[in-house]
Amino acid sequence: MKVVILGSGSYSGTPKPLCNCENCSRARINPALRRTRFSLYFEKTLVDPSPDLHYHLERLNRKIERVLITHGHFDHVFGLPELQVFRKVEFHSNGETLEVAKSLSRLAFGSESLEGHEWNYNELKFWENTKVGRMRLVHFPVVHTVKAGGFVIWIGGKKIAITGDTGPEILGDERALKLMEGADLLVAEMTHRKAIPGSHLGVEEAIELAKRVGADYTVFAHISHSNYPHEVLEKRLREAKVEGEVARDFTWVEV
Ligand SMILES: [Zn+2]
Ligand SMILES: [Zn+2]
Ligand SMILES: [Zn+2]
Repeated sequence: MKVVILGSGSYSGTPKPLCNCENCSRARINPALRRTRFSLYFEKTLVDPSPDLHYHLERLNRKIERVLITHGHFDHVFGLPELQVFRKVEFHSNGETLEVAKSLSRLAFGSESLEGHEWNYNELKFWENTKVGRMRLVHFPVVHTVKAGGFVIWIGGKKIAITGDTGPEILGDERALKLMEGADLLVAEMTHRKAIPGSHLGVEEAIELAKRVGADYTVFAHISHSNYPHEVLEKRLREAKVEGEVARDFTWVEV
């Protein structure tokens, strides 16, 4: 099965307007170093409709039938109205995040499902095993600045774990670690150089998480412009002997 990381960046993206840091300066010269806001896709499923969704969709050019949302921060959900090209969409997330999704649809279209469309909002309870199409999933809570959760998904004999945005507290959450353990693919956030408690992982914590989960392959994403340059992060992974890579936009992974 193929998973594509559509956007590898965090809230401001890289380059961030008016920023002249090393990553932003380089990304203005080399498009391969640009990072749009976080989103990923597999098997007609989108995780997080980022504000860059139109850019993602026109390049991906594939059908979306369901959308999983980790949390209601703008960099993970504000592209939602771009889904108007799809008539039938099932949204899945925790209640608080679904309220953000619904209000975005109301703002854009005047209703939660625009004229002639069939958009359904399905609330996920944390830790509950839920069947969604061909997949089974568990939405698990993480510590972040708003209500947020990751996903563990079982599909076609494979197990995929996605942290979404999470504070370093995830390293002390045995239940979440156990749930993610032994995944075929872990998509872990690695926002900053240094962790911010209650908010985001740093490089060290993201690597520690990868080791604790012990996934076959780990892809690190949601990389801030202020993090280390791409090749430095890649070197850190090699030194830590982590089987995986630092995502770029449109990184394809064979699971
Ligand atoms: Zn984010
Ligand atoms: Zn910058
Ligand atoms: Zn966030």
